[in-house]
Amino acid sequence: MKAAKMRRYASKITDWHLGLRRLNFFLVNSEVRSYHSVLRSSKDDYRHKSVAKMNYATSCVNLSEDPPKEKDNRVSDMLIDSYGRMHTYLRISLTERCNLRCQYCMPAEGVDLTPKPELLSLTEILRLANLFVTSGVYKIRLTGGEPAIRKDIEDVCLHLSNLNGLKTLAMTTNGLTLARKLPKLKECGLTSINISLDTLVPAKFEFLTRRKGHEKVMESINAAIDVGYNPVKVNCVVMRGFNDDEICDFIELTRDRPINIRFIEFMPFDGNVWNVKKLVSYSEMLDRVVKKFPGLRRLQDHPTETAKNFKIDGHCGTVSFITSMTEHFCAGCNRLRLLADGNFKVCLFGPSEVSLRDPLRQHASDDELREIIGAAVKRKKASHAGMFDIAKTANRPMIHIGG
Ligand code: SAM
Ligand code: SF4
Repeated sequence: MKAAKMRRYASKITDWHLGLRRLNFFLVNSEVRSYHSVLRSSKDDYRHKSVAKMNYATSCVNLSEDPPKEKDNRVSDMLIDSYGRMHTYLRISLTERCNLRCQYCMPAEGVDLTPKPELLSLTEILRLANLFVTSGVYKIRLTGGEPAIRKDIEDVCLHLSNLNGLKTLAMTTNGLTLARKLPKLKECGLTSINISLDTLVPAKFEFLTRRKGHEKVMESINAAIDVGYNPVKVNCVVMRGFNDDEICDFIELTRDRPINIRFIEFMPFDGNVWNVKKLVSYSEMLDRVVKKFPGLRRLQDHPTETAKNFKIDGHCGTVSFITSMTEHFCAGCNRLRLLADGNFKVCLFGPSEVSLRDPLRQHASDDELREIIGAAVKRKKASHAGMFDIAKTANRPMIHIGG
């Protein structure tokens, strides 16, 4: 490794560890009591609000948002890979920008942003989305960076939701600026929402995201329930020593509310200082949950489902685990990714990308674009390389790929 690169890595590692030590420092120095009382009061405060909100939950979670599983003849050959997997789900990254700086997603020094003229315009996004939907894609997820910071996000939703054949328009968002936009987004056809939240403790949120805003995210979760999203999916990346002690607190959120809490195994991407010691495996999480909630039972999952879904007897919401690292779900993968710069990616962990923007701007016909897309889909590997190889393979930072 070159010296400059080594230095960059060293500073990233130091940043993470210093941060955690700062957090631990809270626990061992004289501020320990006040830290615990902040922690307790913020949890109690949250629980209080959550009870207050109880009455707003109109019905309990029904997880199936995917259409039926039978073979769909509408799916064109362009979307079928050499293993017979039908790719009917497109994730579109709407921006590389973000109003948070999550340590597991964004390198400490930030990322180089693609100059605006090299990003897809709304017209280009819509042309490509239309091409995918007319070929058989029935679910689109908007992601980023932070998709909700786009000024035209309502327009984006309106246009996409009007594509004939699209059944689900979903968004993954950090929830920071979401609450006030939600009623309009719903009107514009956003059918499903995932809000990312990794801790119930505001001080830890600020540490992890390098920004304030915990309260705003909580507000957005409540607002999403209030406008009727069911379930409201909450994404939580579990990291040892950071939030693995909060798993059961997160599950408490599902007791009276239509929340699907999704525990995600920590994944390696460029610049996020992944380390196997920080990974809390699915089986370990499950062990902990079963001890506290013996009424946990597995739900039947859709074959293309990335999550392992569970319900706890008596709880309104549900609990899921996204086990990309320890039990990958490549065999049923139906996902494709369009990045903000117009690159097309067939696997989250595969480094290969092909530009759709360039041929688009060279006036390629729909058939020519279909050919490029189809060829990339056919090159998709049977499965990703396994977590240790992924950690060593060059890939882009998550913020560029969009999850
Ligand atoms: N900004 C939005 C958000 O945070 O929800 C959308 C983009 S973000 C890249 C999409 C999802 O990827 C989030 O739920 C985030 O928690 C998750 N994510 C990011 N980095 C990750 C990592 N290293 N391992 C697991 N999940 C990760
Ligand atoms: Fe931004 Fe989402 Fe990445 Fe956090 S996870 S830095 S909110 S894109």
